[in-house]
Parts: sequence; structure tokens; C-alpha cells
Amino acid sequence: MGKKSAKDKNTKDGALWSQEPWQALRAGTLGPIAEFDPDRTPGFDGDREDGEKLLAQYGEELSDLQEMLFAQGRSGGTRSVLLVLQGMDTAGKGGIVRHVGGLLDPQGLAITGFGKPTPEELAHDFLWRIHKALPRAGRIGVFDRSHYEDVLPVRVHGLVPESVWSQRYDLINEFEAELTAAGTTVIKCALVVSKDEQKTRLAERLDRPDKFWKYNPGDVDERAYWDDYLDAYQAIFDTTDTDHAPWFVIPANRKWFSRLAVARLLLQTLRGLDLSWPPADFDVAAEKQRLAASD
Ligand code: AMP
Ligand code: MG
Repeated sequence: MGKKSAKDKNTKDGALWSQEPWQALRAGTLGPIAEFDPDRTPGFDGDREDGEKLLAQYGEELSDLQEMLFAQGRSGGTRSVLLVLQGMDTAGKGGIVRHVGGLLDPQGLAITGFGKPTPEELAHDFLWRIHKALPRAGRIGVFDRSHYEDVLPVRVHGLVPESVWSQRYDLINEFEAELTAAGTTVIKCALVVSKDEQKTRLAERLDRPDKFWKYNPGDVDERAYWDDYLDAYQAIFDTTDTDHAPWFVIPANRKWFSRLAVARLLLQTLRGLDLSWPPADFDVAAEKQRLAASD
């Protein structure tokens, strides 16, 4: 019989976390984003192998909780979850969608990517396209980019006047407060890579035909605005890291860690909903009898 090592036991649940990501990665408690080290794995004492094992374990509980949320949505419940993902190019948003979203049942997931606004979207208020993509009751929504783009590239490149974008922080807080009051639990994750790591990842895209589709020549131009983007992220954390819609800063130089951390945050969010199976809206004993009596 194989003896379980102490390490194996530790991977059971939260033991490898000396501090939960909920605390260790909360934007408001970290220092300036410009000094953030994307190589670190704050709060986590394990290595890559531990992290990958844990991620798979989280998958089981995540999908159970997701099914309960879905069942409640089917039974008149109003709750849903929204995971907002932001990050510079190559930060790994797509990988989170694939690897964390991949632990969940696609039926209960609503994934939306937000690219450059279409003319129709530009003709509306910046939250118009966001409203249309909100998760219905029982669903877990994932935004790959979000309304925060309207205070990121839009601010950095002055796509609208400052008098317009500067008002958006308050508008976003109001919007998210309404959203949470209506039953949606919101968590926001900003994936942070270092400028060097981004260069490595862009170079890899140029070396691999299977990655050309991800490469956008404009991404290189954006690197010249790195510090402006950091300022724009700092402004977001300073103004929109609220208790009802908290921001977490995810170090993303190590993909295994960013995936694990986001999965843990999502798991804690779902646990926090205190979900239960909806009770039957029929007489169970009577139905058993009817079934037994049927042909
Ligand atoms: P990707 O996520 O790599 O497909 O790229 C989408 C692009 O659309 C990125 O360059 C974003 O910055 C850009 N984008 C998304 N939303 C907006 C917005 N509201 N205004 C301007 N650019 C945006
Ligand atoms: Mg891109």
C-alpha cells in the first residue's frame, strides 16, 4: 500500500495556501502596481506540480457548486456570478478561460470577449454591450476584457475626452453596485505580466505558425505605452476595488499560478454563496408511488 507523503496530504485543499488569494492578491492591499512582481506566487507554498494537481481537484468542487447554482437558477433563484478578466496582451486571459472555464460545464457558462467596439456599439453608452452580455440567473459569466477597456486603451490613447472617461469610474461603481444588488456576485481579476515576459511571449507567437493568429502588429506599438497602462490600471484599482466588486491582481508570469489563483478565487466565491439543492416542487413520496404503479 502506497504511503501518502505529507505533501500529498497538503494538497487536499487549502493547506498549501499560507494566505488565501482573497487576501494575498486583493488590489487594495497591494502596493503600487508599478512595483508589483509578476514572477511571485503570493500566499502559495507549492510548486508547479502541486499547483496543477490542486487545480484539477478544484475542478470537482467547482463543477458541483456550479450545478447547484444552475439548479437554483432553474428553480426561480436569481443568483449568478461574473468573473471579469483584464490584462495586457499575452497576459493569459484566453488560457484562464480555457483552463479554468474548462473545469466547468459549458451549459452553465457564458463567456464573452470584448474587442474593439463596433460602430453600433460606439453609437451607444459604453455599458450597452456589457448589459447585453450579463449572465442570466444560475450562470457563471466570464468577461474576457470588459467595461474596463473604456478606461484603459480609451484613456491611454485619448479615444474620448478626459471629461468623458474620467466620469466612467463612478459610472462603473454604480453599475456594479446595481448588478450585485440584483443577485450577481462580481469578482475582477487583472492578470499582470512583466514587460520582459510579454516580449518573450510575443516572440513565441512570431516563431510558431500555430500562434500567428494571436499576433497583432499593434501589440508591439502598445508596448511604448506600458507605463501609461500601469497608471490606468492603478486608477482602476484606486477607484473601483470595492467590497461588492473586488479587484484581485494576479501575477501571471507563471501561467500555472495565475490559473490556480483564479480558480481558487472562483471556488471561494461559489462556496461563499452557501448554495443548496432546490427542494422538490412536487410530492416526492406520491411521485414514487405513481412511478412504481406505472407500466
Ligand atoms: P484581443 O483581446 O487580443 O482580441 O484584442 C481586442 C482589442 O480590442 C484589444 O486591443 C483591446 O484593447 C481592444 N478593445 C476592447 N475594448 C475596447 C474599447 N472599449 N475601446 C477600445 N479598444 C477596445
Ligand atoms: Mg491580442
